[in-house]
Amino acid sequence: MLYWVFKRALTESSLVTARHGGYGKKASGMSYEPPKPLEWNYCPICGNRLIVAHDGEKDRPHCPGCRRFYYRNPVPAACCFVRRGEDELLFTQRAVEPCRGQWSLPGGFVEVGETTEEAALRELYEETGLRGLQIRLLGLNTKASPISGAILVVAYVVDAFEGELRPDTDAMDAQFFKRHERPPLAFSVHRDLLALYDQIER
Ligand SMILES: [Zn+2]
Repeated sequence: MLYWVFKRALTESSLVTARHGGYGKKASGMSYEPPKPLEWNYCPICGNRLIVAHDGEKDRPHCPGCRRFYYRNPVPAACCFVRRGEDELLFTQRAVEPCRGQWSLPGGFVEVGETTEEAALRELYEETGLRGLQIRLLGLNTKASPISGAILVVAYVVDAFEGELRPDTDAMDAQFFKRHERPPLAFSVHRDLLALYDQIER
């Protein structure tokens, strides 16, 4: 019962869940407002306000207490091109903001402790229920991101998989599309990677 109450409180919360600054579920009926971009203002270790100091290259946020510089780096993510037959590719319809309802490639952010391949396969399974059996590197792309500053997306081709399509977590739908039926993709980084896929894999 307690679990149910807790779960209900979570699902009905109007708070955007904290996942890389707002890539989370939101309560229905609210208009989406993207969170402010990440900035280093306070030390996440000791909580002190950061100062600006020179690290030998340039001025950067610095904590005098922890003697530590803070850097803004692209956030690593991974995505999958899951092939079926001659020309079908798997796309997912986003259940979360930003771009809720629009289509994308299955994928997500890489967690500490996993490789980019593991992240790609984990996200594929979480979002679609499919387990990738053969995975190989396609390429990568870096793009500015209003929320993270920049993202670096590593793209993989999944040539073999098992399981049944079962959209879940960040996906409200997952479908294979023939080349001429592909939906427009929400993110330019995915569109560029799709162009790369078509260039290399055709
Ligand atoms: Zn500190």
